[in-house]
Amino acid sequence: MKAEVITTGTEIMIGSILNTNSKYLSSKLTELGIESCYHTSVDDNVERLTSVFEIALNRADIIITTGGLGPTDDDLTKETITKALGLELEIDINLEDELPHCLANMHNTMTNNNEKQALNPAGSKLIRNDIGTAPGILIDINNKKLIMLPGPPNEMIPMFENYVMPILRTNNNIVIKSINTIGIGESSLEVELRNLNIYEEGFNISTYANNGTVEIKVIGRGNDKDILTKKMNEKIKIITNNLNQYIYGFENKYLAEIVVDLLKEKNLQLSLCESCTGGLISNSITRIPGSSAVFDRSIVTYSNNAKIDELGVSSETLEKYGAVSEETAYEMAKGILNKTTSDIVLSVTGIAGPGGGSKEKPVGLVYLCVMNKKNHKIIKNIFSGERLTIQEKAAMRALYEIKQFV
Ligand code: ATP
Repeated sequence: MKAEVITTGTEIMIGSILNTNSKYLSSKLTELGIESCYHTSVDDNVERLTSVFEIALNRADIIITTGGLGPTDDDLTKETITKALGLELEIDINLEDELPHCLANMHNTMTNNNEKQALNPAGSKLIRNDIGTAPGILIDINNKKLIMLPGPPNEMIPMFENYVMPILRTNNNIVIKSINTIGIGESSLEVELRNLNIYEEGFNISTYANNGTVEIKVIGRGNDKDILTKKMNEKIKIITNNLNQYIYGFENKYLAEIVVDLLKEKNLQLSLCESCTGGLISNSITRIPGSSAVFDRSIVTYSNNAKIDELGVSSETLEKYGAVSEETAYEMAKGILNKTTSDIVLSVTGIAGPGGGSKEKPVGLVYLCVMNKKNHKIIKNIFSGERLTIQEKAAMRALYEIKQFV
């Protein structure tokens, strides 16, 4: 079953409020196993709402509208949709009786405008509104369900949860899994996934890139929960087995949290020295509660002098190879390892841009060196993007390298 969410209101269209209703309703529809296929937003205009509604009627089985059910003249949803469906508005005697009480609770008096709220499409059912005065409306027509809800989220959400969800609940189950990867671009990852023979009816496999990481989201829908779970587990296993070198976690767990948990598990202390990331890596680590158990310090050594003073990087190395070089990254890591009692350290030095790049050393060139008392590994990266993106990609990659090295 395909659903469309239509959010109405000039305030949404002129950008004065954030359209949270679409997001909320889509997440609930997904939870119900219903495919949320279209979001449409439209201002308080009869012609445009009519055309949006007619399009929705052609392509969706369930249409949910929010907004425009209130008592004022710009509240047009009920009237417009009733007309578009060729129905008439009828007086709802019970509601007319109930409205004055409702308004009394809200310290208001009955006006002609409120009487407009007692008129409803013929054959419709009302959806109770326990908070405000505008009830919702349900119309079952030509195997389609049309649900009109008020705009204010504090009214719409309880109405949807208490009265609409029980109507929409089907036998359709949904299972959603996320696999988080790093070190592979979104398009290459998609090619790899296509080669795995995991696509089939009822499953949607998509990728979302963010700061050098790519999330693989697998959504499965089906009537039989056991078969669905079995198939989902098989797909996750195939992906994990084949793309293991890129996978750093599952269900969008923070990479920094994964690193902190791993360090705790292995009882290891970490220190950092950061140049181009300016403390971003240590910020990610210290955001994780309990990170003090495994994190000793980070020294931000931005200038050459700082690298010499704080970490003992030799001025010859800086002169000969430059601040952004394998050699400097190595000496920075060595410096922090010698200065602390940490078991594992990481250094980062790079060119975040937009200036400072050259043909040999372009903007985005970042060296990482991860080291313990026995081994070290130097990783050369060339990240694309703006200054902040490069810094964030470098920080994510650094966390990943710590995880791999531990
Ligand atoms: P009312 O009885 O309050 O008039 P209504 O059904 O007519 O309800 P609207 O007039 O369209 O709803 O919206 C009322 C308020 O609800 C808006 O001012 C806004 O604060 C909130 N609202 C409306 N639509 C949305 C939306 N899509 N996302 C978040 N908030 C919304």
